[in-house]
Amino acid sequence: MANPLYDALFAPLRQQTWTFLHLPDGAVMSGAAFHDMIAQLAQALRAAGVVQGDRVAVQAAKSPRALALYAACVSIGAVYLPLNPAYTPAEVAYFIGNATPRLIFCDPSAQAVLAPIATRHQARLETLAANGAVSLPLANGDGFAPSPCAGADLAAILYTSGTTGRSKGAMLSHHNLLSNAQVLAQMWQFTDGDVLLHALPIFHTHGLFVATNTVLVARASMIFLPSFDLGAVLAALPQSTVMMGVPTFYTRLLDSAQITRQSTQHMRLFVSGSAPLRAETHSAFLARTGHAILERYGMTETNMNTSNPYAGARRAGTVGMPLPSVELRITEGGAELPQGAVGMIEVRGPNVFSGYWQMPEKTAEDLSADGWFRTGDLGMIDDQGYVQIVGRAKDLIISGGFNVYPKEVELLLDAAHGVQESAVIGLPHPDFGEAVFAVLTPQQGAVLDTGAVLASLQGQLARYKQPKAAVVLPDLPRNAMGKVQKAQLRKDYADWFSKSS
Ligand code: AMP
Repeated sequence: MANPLYDALFAPLRQQTWTFLHLPDGAVMSGAAFHDMIAQLAQALRAAGVVQGDRVAVQAAKSPRALALYAACVSIGAVYLPLNPAYTPAEVAYFIGNATPRLIFCDPSAQAVLAPIATRHQARLETLAANGAVSLPLANGDGFAPSPCAGADLAAILYTSGTTGRSKGAMLSHHNLLSNAQVLAQMWQFTDGDVLLHALPIFHTHGLFVATNTVLVARASMIFLPSFDLGAVLAALPQSTVMMGVPTFYTRLLDSAQITRQSTQHMRLFVSGSAPLRAETHSAFLARTGHAILERYGMTETNMNTSNPYAGARRAGTVGMPLPSVELRITEGGAELPQGAVGMIEVRGPNVFSGYWQMPEKTAEDLSADGWFRTGDLGMIDDQGYVQIVGRAKDLIISGGFNVYPKEVELLLDAAHGVQESAVIGLPHPDFGEAVFAVLTPQQGAVLDTGAVLASLQGQLARYKQPKAAVVLPDLPRNAMGKVQKAQLRKDYADWFSKSS
């Protein structure tokens, strides 16, 4: 029996005599050398008693060894469980208690504080440093053979960011990951000549699966940067052919005068996802470079669902069409809505996860018996088949009984004089239940008059959609993937209207 992910993604590295990773210090690592790293780790995991189905949790800095650990787990049928290095020990304790891994890797600086947590859950604790030094004794990888697995076997558990309630562990199978990587490599026309500029974290689906697995399927290579550092990214750009990023990467690139038509002429593709790319960023990038950023939409539970076309029109403000083999529908109360109506985005296909780890009730709430996953995103399909996302269902505002989609208000606010960007939220209000509230950031050098900005919406929006108040912040709060933290804003301003009425 085969091991689907090892066979398709990692076994071919053995023959890859050319570069797989370009490293920040100028060193390169061939595919074959990376395969040796995988084999040594895989044998070491086996020697440590890790068996098929065991979870291996990793809270470590991005490094080639950390990436090889993902591959090593998958190759022996273990379940890889990456954790954001920013999580506090208390948060890690929750994940360890929920997932009960056999083995935990952490940064050496966290060893002392995580040791009692590991002991409590009978997990072995090892360290993995930012420079790739690992405390687990490495084994000889010669003659390594993978463990056989079925396509439905778990390859990874990724915890969702959990802005409401406890974070949930999305169970992803070999088949989920492989089917999506194959579709993306084909859609985005990856070849072994591609060099991907990889500045994303590898604890999240975007950097770990979308970027890495797609490169592996194509036997391409990556410039593997520890994080998004503008100088390092600009320096790496001339050697790259493709970049994948979150929207903030693009706004930061646009801040640099070095981003020009000429400096990006050799690039084949820029991809954006994980958070909405503002139409303004899309058009500014196009005007400056001649490249239309390709926006796609996915999530931890489903891998990628939609993509703007590689060859056809890449339309700003949309996330494109469903990928081949992915079905997408818009529903309300479980019933499918006609084209053009706004409702819950549901998806079905080989990309969709098998449920939340040890949370059968939550799984049943979101994943129907016939395979449809309620994404929690609200959106619509336009008359050309492009999907538009209007926001998370939990961010929908119901003011005086009327639905307000924040995106509609944000688009107008963003266009108002002096406004850089905006976040529209609903806050508790004694009369309306919820009232629309806007958080604005100013364009460089602008001084915002919130009254004037709100007045500019008159005549453009129904009264009930217009924010009843606004504040100005220097920046919107964002997480590591560039998503605006609306839950945080709702908390920060929770008593605004109870105070002022
Ligand atoms: P995560 O599970 O962290 O990848 O977050 C998934 C969520 O990010 C989705 O459910 C969407 O709300 C959001 N998201 C991802 N890509 C896009 C996009 N291109 N436009 C708007 N929202 C997006």
